[in-house]
Amino acid sequence: MSFKDLKLIKPLQKAVEATGYTEPTLVQERAIPLILEGKDVIVSAQTGTGKTAAYALPILQQLFDKQDAPKRGKKIKALIISPTRELASQIHQNFKTYAKFSNLRSFTIFGGTSIEPQVDVLKKGVDILIATPGRLLDLHKQDYINLDKVETLVLDEADLMLAMGFIDDVKKIERLCPEEKQTLLFSATIPYKIEELANSILKNPKRIDV
Ligand code: AMP
Repeated sequence: MSFKDLKLIKPLQKAVEATGYTEPTLVQERAIPLILEGKDVIVSAQTGTGKTAAYALPILQQLFDKQDAPKRGKKIKALIISPTRELASQIHQNFKTYAKFSNLRSFTIFGGTSIEPQVDVLKKGVDILIATPGRLLDLHKQDYINLDKVETLVLDEADLMLAMGFIDDVKKIERLCPEEKQTLLFSATIPYKIEELANSILKNPKRIDV
C-alpha cells in the first residue's frame, strides 16, 4: 500500500515523501480512508505507530479546498486537544511538516507560558489549532477563540486526558464546537471511561485497534 493508494492529494504525497516515509503505517492505512469519508473514529494506538499523521493528513486534505478563503477573519476549522504541551508541540510540528505545500496555518497554545504572543497569532487567524484544555478554555473565556466553525475535533491521548483529570474540560470544549462536526478519538488504551466518553460525543464511530 502507498500513500497514493490512500487517495492522498499530490501536495500531501510530496510532503510525506520529503519527510522520507515510503509507505503508510498500519494505523494510517486503516484510519485515513475512514477519516476522509467523514466518519467519526475511535482509534486505539500507542505513540510511535504514526497515529499523528493518521489524522493530520486527512484533516489537511479536507481543508485543502478551502484554503483560498480570505485570510482575514479566518476561523479555526480543526481543533486538536492534547493533554500535555510536549505532545501539543509535537503535533504542531507534524502539521507544519505535512502542510509544507499549502497555505494552511496551524498553531499551538498551551499553559505555563505567557498568553500575549498566543493572542497575537490567534488574532491573525489560524486554520488548525492544537491546544491543551486549560489554556484553550482560558483564551475562549477571554473571547480570543471562536470555535463556531470547527469541522473536525481530535482528542489525542484520551487516556492520559482522563488520568490528568481533563475529562470535564474536554466535554466542555466539545460543547463549544458545533453539533455538526467530525470527532476523532485517539488513545493508547480504551478503558471503560474512555468508551463512555466516546459514546457520549462520537456519532456512530468506527473502531480501529492497532
Ligand atoms: P507518532 O505515533 O505519530 O508519534 O509517530 C511516530 C514517528 O513515526 C514519528 O517520528 C513520525 O515522524 C514517524 N512516522 C509517521 N508516519 C510514518 C510513516 N508512514 N513511515 C515512517 N515513519 C513515520
